[in-house]
Amino acid sequence: EAAESSNEKLAVYSQQIDPYNERRISLLGELRHAIESDQLQLYFQPQISLKTNKVEGAEVLIRWIHPEYGFIPPDEFIPLAERTGVIHALTYWICRHAFQIKSSLTRQGFDIALSINISARNLQDAEFSQKIQLLADEENISLQDIVMELTETAVMTDPDHALKMMSELNEAGIRLSIDDFGTGYSSLSYLKRLPVNEIKIDRSFVMDMATSGDDQLLVRTTLSMGHNLSLVVVAEGIEDAPTLDLLKAMGCDLAQGYHIARPMPVDAFYKWLGDYVAVLPDIDTDSSGSA
Ligand code: C2E
Ligand code: MG
Ligand code: MG
Ligand code: MG
Repeated sequence: EAAESSNEKLAVYSQQIDPYNERRISLLGELRHAIESDQLQLYFQPQISLKTNKVEGAEVLIRWIHPEYGFIPPDEFIPLAERTGVIHALTYWICRHAFQIKSSLTRQGFDIALSINISARNLQDAEFSQKIQLLADEENISLQDIVMELTETAVMTDPDHALKMMSELNEAGIRLSIDDFGTGYSSLSYLKRLPVNEIKIDRSFVMDMATSGDDQLLVRTTLSMGHNLSLVVVAEGIEDAPTLDLLKAMGCDLAQGYHIARPMPVDAFYKWLGDYVAVLPDIDTDSSGSA
């Protein structure tokens, strides 16, 4: 009887359309249109130096405000974009808009870097680096202040090809960062062979480090190995003051997380930058201010 009723359930289930699946299929078809219309927005989350307190940069995070579904998290639509190949158009759209913002930040006197997330599939475009340089020329920005974040998995899927692509980007002036560090299988000694400038310790280790000895040890070890390889180490996902203080004491370079600021739209970001400078004194002793 139990088997019969579960078969029945199965039959009913297969006749219905899985609402999540339905949404996924509809999103798949709409993403290209969303890029061309006004549904996508860039958000910015500041990164501050734990040595000087200065704002060093911001991570660019994509948001999709869908007319029917509302806010759709990137964790949901980026994988779709990757599977369909829309990720190429999407990443160029993101870069063009981020470069425009970068140019406007410079005009407003904010000398900060922008970090852009890049998918593994972007590296499959043999002309990726050339296209990025063209976009930078069009927006009249220098690639010295652009960081590209790649996950360990993106790099390790095809390491030889990744090395070639990363070298091209690096030669163009772009700094490269390994995102979500600690969640993949790459070793730091392997990373040493790649033109990597920075690692971002995954937020899953940072979030509990003030209370978890294991996580704290992992962060400490990553920091010391990263510094031995002359890498900039960023901690993401800092949600409270104790974690921030701990990372500062450990010698972590850059900090990002809700405790400092949430990701925000560009106008709020400009305002935040203005307010931040006004509130926190510049403790960089190199600048005398008599220029
Ligand atoms: P990610 O690159 O590791 O980005 C960091 C994520 O952590 C962001 O989520 C950010 O909002 C979130 N976050 C920042 N501080 C905190 C914190 O203190 N606590 C917690 N709990 N979370 C924090 P978001 O914006 O939802 O993005 C999720 C992922 O989607 C990103 O992870 C990245 O893998 C991907 N993504 C976002 N924007 C883009 C993009 O423009 N292009 C590509 N290819 N992927 C993107
Ligand atoms: Mg990232
Ligand atoms: Mg990350
Ligand atoms: Mg992630």
